[in-house]
Amino acid sequence: MNIILMGPPGAGKGTQAALLEKKYGLKQISTGDMLREEVKKGSALGKKAKEIMEKGELVPDDLIINMIALRMAQPDCVKGVIFDGFPRTVAQAEALDKMLADNGKKLDAVIELEVDEDVILKRILGRAAEDKAAGREPRKDDNEESFRERMAAYRKKTAPVTPYYEAKNMLKKINGLQSIEEVEADIDAVLKSGGNGVGKKAAFGGPK
Ligand code: AMP
Repeated sequence: MNIILMGPPGAGKGTQAALLEKKYGLKQISTGDMLREEVKKGSALGKKAKEIMEKGELVPDDLIINMIALRMAQPDCVKGVIFDGFPRTVAQAEALDKMLADNGKKLDAVIELEVDEDVILKRILGRAAEDKAAGREPRKDDNEESFRERMAAYRKKTAPVTPYYEAKNMLKKINGLQSIEEVEADIDAVLKSGGNGVGKKAAFGGPK
C-alpha cells in the first residue's frame, strides 16, 4: 500500500504518518527528515539543501526525485510507503507516477489534511517553545518568518499538486484541525473504503 499525506507545514502529516507506519507496517518517507539528516551529515546533497531549507524554499525537483528513487529501492520499502512532504510539485508527482509504474506499483490513497494557517502557526511556535524548554535546539525553520515563507512556497508550488490528484479522482480531504485520534479515524475510514477511488470508477457519473 502506498499513500501520500498532503497538507501545509505543521498540519500533522508527520504524526499521522508515524501512526500509519505502526499500524500497517508501511515505511514513512519524509523528505523533510531525510534532507535534515543530509544537512546534519554534511553530505553533498545536504550542503546544497541547507540554505534553501532555512529560507523555507523548495529544494530543486531533480535532487528530491533522485533521493526518493534511492530510498524506494531499499528493502524496508517493500510493503509500501507513506509519503510525508512529497510530492510538493507537479513535476515530483509525475516522477512518482512513473517511478511506481516502472516498478509495478501504484498509489492507493492521496489524503490532504486541511488546516487553518493561523492555527498551525501557533502549533509550530508551540513546538519551538517545547523544544527550547526541553533543552533541545528547535528546528531552524520553526519561527514565524520561515513559516510564512514555507506557506508561501506551499501555496505557490504545492497547491497545483492537489488538482493533479483531484483530476485523477484520487484526492480525499480530511479536517486536520480535529484531534489526532479523530484525524486518524478519518484516515482509517478512507483506507478501509479502498482508498480514494483509485482503480475504481468515479462515484458520480464516471467517464463519458
Ligand atoms: P518539511 O519537514 O516537510 O516541512 O520540509 C522542510 C523543508 O525541506 C522544506 O521547507 C523544503 O525546503 C525542504 N523539502 C522537504 N520536502 C521537499 C520536497 N518534496 N520538495 C522540495 N523541498 C522539500
